[in-house]
Amino acid sequence: MTKRTALVTGANKGIGFETARQLAQQGLIVWLGARDRRRGEAAARDLAGDGDVRFLSLDVTDATSVDAAAARIEQETGTLDVLINNAGIAVADGEGLPSTVHPETIQQTLDVNFFGSLRVTQAFLPLLRKAAAGRIVNVSSSMGSLTLLSSPENPLGQFPAFAYPASKTLLNALTGWLAHELRDTSIKVSSVCPGFNATDINGHQGTQHPSEGAKVVAYAANLAPDSISGTFFDVNGPVGW
Ligand code: NAP
Repeated sequence: MTKRTALVTGANKGIGFETARQLAQQGLIVWLGARDRRRGEAAARDLAGDGDVRFLSLDVTDATSVDAAAARIEQETGTLDVLINNAGIAVADGEGLPSTVHPETIQQTLDVNFFGSLRVTQAFLPLLRKAAAGRIVNVSSSMGSLTLLSSPENPLGQFPAFAYPASKTLLNALTGWLAHELRDTSIKVSSVCPGFNATDINGHQGTQHPSEGAKVVAYAANLAPDSISGTFFDVNGPVGW
């Protein structure tokens, strides 16, 4: 039987790295996407003992890089079964609530977290369509949940940020709309929140190891054929949009 293939963007460290590890351990051929060749090749080497992990040069903000990555996978494996849109940033300087956030911060954040995921999804969709059961996983965050934002307890109110949460809200919109567009195909699209993980994006303040957060991402990569497409969930179940 042909091995399933997966691409994880931003996989040289953090949750993406651990997701690449888990999918490789499950027997998938994993393309480890990274924008920096040295960091990416080192990460792929680190995972060599976990399975078939191949470095793929991929900067999600660069259309030329994205197109070249898609062309390489098409040439080498012909299809793609799983796309994990994991690459993400949070801009420390210039973040803030809507009255003070720098517009450039919003632009910079959207460029990676939303437009990057959109660009990669569009480039790889032809390869996902060729797979028997394509899976697209958008690594989102409960911080993007408008349901939580508008709830009386508003647990998000404690974070003095707008650009990052808004980027995940938009990413969730992509999940919903893409699932609708692909409703007559075997492709399923999900948004997942990996929980609060100790990684560079939050100065390692997270309360769990990224290998924990990666579990829900890997779960979404393996959604059963009868699962509903276009859902948003974390380790505890559905998250309100
Ligand atoms: P991280 O350790 O900082 O990893 C982020 C990854 O994204 C790195 O590999 C980084 O590459 C890559 N990246 C950034 N810009 C890129 C670009 N233009 N092209 C390609 N790759 C790029 O953070 P993380 O916590 O693992 O974050 C992974 C995802 O989980 C993000 O989408 C984040 O929003 C989401 N998330 C994290 C948490 C958490 O608690 N950590 C919670 C909810 C959601 P470089 O090394 O080259 O910078």
